[in-house]
Amino acid sequence: TYVVIDNCIACKYTDCVEVCPVDCFYEGENMLVIHPDECIDCGVCEPECPADAIRPDTEPNLEEWVSFNRKYAEVW
Ligand code: SF4
Repeated sequence: TYVVIDNCIACKYTDCVEVCPVDCFYEGENMLVIHPDECIDCGVCEPECPADAIRPDTEPNLEEWVSFNRKYAEVW
């Protein structure tokens, strides 16, 4: 699963949303989030993000963002 981190805040680009094959991006309060149960881990979105805000959840120290993405994605 990939997660969106704070680099996304106030980013106006939605390149990631356009390339995601399963439409698993959702609107958080001021940034996008990825639904962790819908993401198929394809990695296509990561290089498309101009803000470098998309990371694999296997990176260290992302626990806070993992739960943040889940919290805001599950609202929808
Ligand atoms: Fe969508 Fe693939 Fe990115 Fe997951 S890794 S959010 S499925 S484009």
